[in-house]
Amino acid sequence: MNSLSLLMGVVCLLVGHWGVHPMVNNYNAQKGLYSLAPITNVQIEKRYATVNNICSAVLDSDQCCYLRGVAYIKFVRACEILRAEHPKLKFIIYDAYRSPKIQLKLWNKVKGTPNARYVAYPKCISMHSLGLALDMTLADSLGKPLDMGTDYDAFTLLAQPRFESQFLRTQTLSKAQYENRLLLRSIMKRAGFFQLQSEWWHYEALHQKFAHTHYKVIE
Ligand SMILES: [Zn+2]
Repeated sequence: MNSLSLLMGVVCLLVGHWGVHPMVNNYNAQKGLYSLAPITNVQIEKRYATVNNICSAVLDSDQCCYLRGVAYIKFVRACEILRAEHPKLKFIIYDAYRSPKIQLKLWNKVKGTPNARYVAYPKCISMHSLGLALDMTLADSLGKPLDMGTDYDAFTLLAQPRFESQFLRTQTLSKAQYENRLLLRSIMKRAGFFQLQSEWWHYEALHQKFAHTHYKVIE
């Protein structure tokens, strides 16, 4: 059995165990990526496939979001935790795998602006381009995002988890907004993800150093 078959076997086993039933054809073998669209408590709102993003321009023609197997397995687990503990909530996915081409387009749009420091320069490999990161939030049953204090890609200090206790003290971040962030964080951490300290919406399936040593960019 090759490693791909083994991975597919493990995914099927885990997916079956957790009661999530993504379509069997959600795997792109050529790229090694799994589509998140079939998961029932997930709503895809890929911002870079719309003009509703920091560039006010469509950067990606593909509306769907994808993850590499190791991240996908963890994400399926997060969906199952959410379904079991908060059946009325769902995840909104703003972005996941991002090709180096899209990353370059993003860089070209923000370079020379104050937002440039938040975008991985194409020569520094983004965890998104490894298929190991996703940008997300929680939404109610109608698909309305929970209030996290800022929008996605709000490149401000208020969006940074490392400053949350400070903003809580000054009530710039409300207790409800903070608790919404904690709920998302608790589910994602239990599923095995790591939170980026500069963006409340960004989660990574592996430590960056390990990921950059063991995984290659998906073109
Ligand atoms: Zn991100």
